[in-house]
Amino acid sequence: MMSRRPLLVFTLVLALIPNIPGMPPFWITLLDNIGLAALVAMGLVLLTGVGGLTSFGQAAFCGFGAYTTAYLTTVYQISPWLTLPIALGLAGIAAVVLGIVTVRLSGHFLPLGTIAWGISLYYAFGKIDALGRHDGISSVPPLAIGGWSLRDPAAMYYVIWAFVLLAGIATLNLLDSRVGRAIRALRGGRVAAEAFGIDSARIKLIVFVYAALLAALSGWLYAHLQRAVNPTPFGLNAGIEYLFMAVLGGSGQIWGAVAGSALVTLLKDVLQRVLPWMTGSTAQLETIVFGILLVVILQVARDGIWPLILSRLPGAPPRRIDDKAPALAARQRETRSDGPMLELAGATKAFGGLVAVNEVSFALKPGEIVALIGPNGAGKSTTFNLITGVLGLSRGSVRFAGHDISGVGQRAIAAHGIARTFQHVKLLPEMSVLENVALGAHMRGRAGVLSSILRLDRDEEVRLFAEASRQIARVGLAEHMHKPAGSLALGQQRIVEIARALCLDPTLLLLDEPAAGLRHFEKEALADLLRQLRAEGMSVLLVEHDMGFVMGLTDHIVVLDFGSKIAEGKPEEIRVHPAVLAAYLGGTA
Ligand code: ADP
Ligand code: MG
Repeated sequence: MMSRRPLLVFTLVLALIPNIPGMPPFWITLLDNIGLAALVAMGLVLLTGVGGLTSFGQAAFCGFGAYTTAYLTTVYQISPWLTLPIALGLAGIAAVVLGIVTVRLSGHFLPLGTIAWGISLYYAFGKIDALGRHDGISSVPPLAIGGWSLRDPAAMYYVIWAFVLLAGIATLNLLDSRVGRAIRALRGGRVAAEAFGIDSARIKLIVFVYAALLAALSGWLYAHLQRAVNPTPFGLNAGIEYLFMAVLGGSGQIWGAVAGSALVTLLKDVLQRVLPWMTGSTAQLETIVFGILLVVILQVARDGIWPLILSRLPGAPPRRIDDKAPALAARQRETRSDGPMLELAGATKAFGGLVAVNEVSFALKPGEIVALIGPNGAGKSTTFNLITGVLGLSRGSVRFAGHDISGVGQRAIAAHGIARTFQHVKLLPEMSVLENVALGAHMRGRAGVLSSILRLDRDEEVRLFAEASRQIARVGLAEHMHKPAGSLALGQQRIVEIARALCLDPTLLLLDEPAAGLRHFEKEALADLLRQLRAEGMSVLLVEHDMGFVMGLTDHIVVLDFGSKIAEGKPEEIRVHPAVLAAYLGGTA
């Protein structure tokens, strides 16, 4: 992230450029084009770089913005400024419709989907009579401020770059917020996000629409800069170029979008002028050379060019934590004075012919630590996935605090107060420990997109981060709070997951092999923490292979083998249980 001062310097430089004596007007036009492209690329940085959703179709949304204003200003003589909200509104509606269909697609079907509608919209622009078919619409009026017409590219320069700066700041604000963390969590996969109450489909749609709005804004500006529109700049080629800009700039880097747009726009321009002059041929060599150069640049700067620039700028200081921030409201706890907290009855999960969990029944009382043990492949993690709604039950039921939660989705289960960690750590390695843990408190915050962009969420953010830092201190990782989560040892990353789960303020904690990879004294500390949580009334279900750890800590043990429960009881009973010794400890007993 960039601190304030470079942004200020950047703004000043931008303001001065057109005033440089002898500045060729042609350069201003180039800068206008860079700014227009940067707006689109910025949306892609959020969508693709941060959210991991690849779109080749952004140019079509530019077309929405451009054609809307071209049509309304020429046919109905509506003032250009009034067409801006209309253009954004139409593009927004189109994005919601296309987004609902597209973001559901996974893997390579998503980019293919965006290619499909990118091509269709391009042809639609060229086929509609009212939009002038392939000739498009000309005589689009210029923008005007007061009586001053912005006919001149140098005047448009200020408008375009003002929008670029505003969009950049808005996007940075959005990223640095509760919604922004949810957007970043998309990369970690659906399961980890939904476990903390993040509606990943909704978040995907939000970034999709946001990126489309920036593209439409760019198109709207383009129409009034060019004073004419036709389908060519809104086709698939342009869509691919925008993606290049975002990737070259540095995936995930907002200002990288500006750097990437500048690089691609200038490179193309230089090649278009220099190559024919060098080779004396009019063949379109520039496309080939351009492609080769892009590959070379990406070889040299794998993460794009912005990180190279960023390393020369002063970095932002680590986030300040306000220890005195008022605590987040505690969640309404599901409590039980009688009866079990969690109850599995005949829980069964079959994967095709493989019955991974077979008629498993057991119960967990409030304030109890129960261990689920068994050899590898016994069905322990699958049982966790059945309880947390990651997988649906084939048969049987799961009850939590008296409610039947069989067949309930992950988010609703999280909302009941069940938090978990994963056997295969699911953290966002590049995000700080603090921000990863704050994700756990997602459901305890309210702030949405608009309040994030307008920075109205600051009080809530301070409280969310105070809570996250408290939980990090509680698990003993305070000194690592500001480091990227991926830089910690794997054992410590598991502990970070516990802090994240605690941020949900759960009633039941499910820990899948929490002590794996920990050193002896770290295991002791973890056991102490779990005892303390139990003393506070939390119930814990854990999977663990270290029998010393399990025996000394748990109230009750359930043993699985090949998906079936073969024993349950107190640790001292399990220790000498013949079936357990045979199946589980067999080799070592
Ligand atoms: P444990 O956590 O006890 O080591 P798991 O619950 O991960 O065991 O796995 C139990 C069995 O179910 C294993 O044989 C595993 O290969 C199988 N299994 C787990 N998840 C899936 C899945 N999504 N699809 C097919 N088989 C699975
Ligand atoms: Mg497992």
